[in-house]
Amino acid sequence: MAIERHALLLLLICRLLATVGLTVAPAEPLLQLFDSDVVRLDPPALAAASSDFGALFTAAPTAVARPRSAEDVAGLIRSAHAAGSFPVSARGCGHSTHGQALAPAGLVVEMARGRLPGPRPTPVYAGGQHYVDVWGGDSWADVLSWTLGHGGLAPKSWTDYLHLSVGGTLSNAGVSGQAFHHGPQISNVLQLDVVTGEGEVVTCSNEENSELFNAVLGGLGQFGIITRARIALERAPQRARWIRVLYSDFAAFTRDQERLIALNGERFDYVEGLVIVDEGLINNWRSSFFSPKNPVKVGSVAGEQRVLYCLEMAKYYHEEDGGEVDGAVERLLRRLRYIPSTEFTTDLTYVEFLGRVHRAEERLRGKGLWEVPHPWLNLFVPASQIADFDAGVFRGILGNNTGGPVLIYPMNKNKWDERSSAVMPEEDVFYLVAFLRSALPNSDDPTQSLEHLKQQNREILEFCHRAHIKIKQYLPHYKTQGEWVDHFGPKWNRFVARKAEFDPKHILGSGHGIFHPSS
Ligand code: FAD
Repeated sequence: MAIERHALLLLLICRLLATVGLTVAPAEPLLQLFDSDVVRLDPPALAAASSDFGALFTAAPTAVARPRSAEDVAGLIRSAHAAGSFPVSARGCGHSTHGQALAPAGLVVEMARGRLPGPRPTPVYAGGQHYVDVWGGDSWADVLSWTLGHGGLAPKSWTDYLHLSVGGTLSNAGVSGQAFHHGPQISNVLQLDVVTGEGEVVTCSNEENSELFNAVLGGLGQFGIITRARIALERAPQRARWIRVLYSDFAAFTRDQERLIALNGERFDYVEGLVIVDEGLINNWRSSFFSPKNPVKVGSVAGEQRVLYCLEMAKYYHEEDGGEVDGAVERLLRRLRYIPSTEFTTDLTYVEFLGRVHRAEERLRGKGLWEVPHPWLNLFVPASQIADFDAGVFRGILGNNTGGPVLIYPMNKNKWDERSSAVMPEEDVFYLVAFLRSALPNSDDPTQSLEHLKQQNREILEFCHRAHIKIKQYLPHYKTQGEWVDHFGPKWNRFVARKAEFDPKHILGSGHGIFHPSS
């Protein structure tokens, strides 16, 4: 412990000197504690941990670490804890958009780069269920490939994009079109190993150390670093029948979405949706689904309506059941009231279906459009107020250029565990509305500029406030503690008590600005 304190004191001095513009020699003491494969002080490593996918904030850490074990993580946190006010943030794939995984002048623990040595995780069958134990920095894409490769198993609940770390999505919730049925990813975790803010490695679940388990799920990295997660698995389907239909009537669209997520027997496995205000979008980004040979002309179906709503559904199946899927899909579609000429169906493997956003990423990277600023806004909107939201935002504030896809889909609150730290509206059904925007700094179109998109985000939030629409931000970002208190509402006191118990010096997760490190 004495060595750790000595190391961090010197690191703190380096940090102070760096803040006044003096470069210092690498913090040798940390390098004595953890070899240079684990602790990195070189400028490229620091630069890589200074920003994120959003590219809206930068803040340089003093050091980055690539731990190889939970014990490495524990040693690093114990060092920071001993030094008092040294911020530490876990970083998964760095796909946050508002600096949530940054550690200004602190230590970034790069979980996704610190992959464990040794054999890949393999699924286990015990206690009547299948599960797999993975490292907190593993990506969901890797988890899928390992579990499929061992007995054709897969996690049940996903995000749309799989190149996100397990620890990163579990710190938020992890939602996609399966959440209405299986709940978010945080509802599909059986056990965790967490290194707390005092550097203690704790195994937790709903049965053991349940307060820490629930604190960490949706806990925005505030209570500990997840080093191991036990993920529930199911037999993986082999194929997905993927269907998109269009609506011009918002009430019919949401009625059908809510009807689909309420079904118990025969149902779709995935239900999402998109808001389309500009024709360009329909053959863009995630909409590659609409084949160029069969483009949808928004004008031809929209009539007087400027806004269209796309309901997106998938039915999974096994090859041997292929004959039954047509009938099931037909029976389900028969209940819906979409514009009849707008049904588009495709059939692909389950892996291709789950990889759909990654393929879009590759296309955007090819055009230099991936590494641009992303002023994303993700909101949970209560179902009873989604029509007001539509009138004010989709058919109002948005205008005719969204700067990227706008997702909209409902979820059932009874699939979420109220004991977790995740925050959702106080209604049985609520919608995710995700404005997934990309700013184009060199565009001549002012509606593509970062400033314009940020201003629209502000207008959307102000509109909700004025219209008393009780939204909650998903992947939240706030500037003041007062805003965080409002965000957590009745959960705030418990959040604070959990912080005091598991990270008493407030060293973890300072990128969010909820708490500030104290000695
Ligand atoms: P990071 O950005 O690295 O970290 C996010 C937060 O988690 C930080 O607070 C960090 O400190 C904390 N953290 C990271 N690792 C750990 C750990 N091991 N232990 C404790 N805390 C940790 N989200 C959805 O729910 N559904 C989607 O469909 C979806 N699609 C997306 C698509 C794209 C293209 C992108 C860029 C993001 C998407 N997201 C989606 C958002 C994503 O889930 C979050 O941004 C998530 O935090 C990203 O994971 P990450 O590994 O990049 O985390």
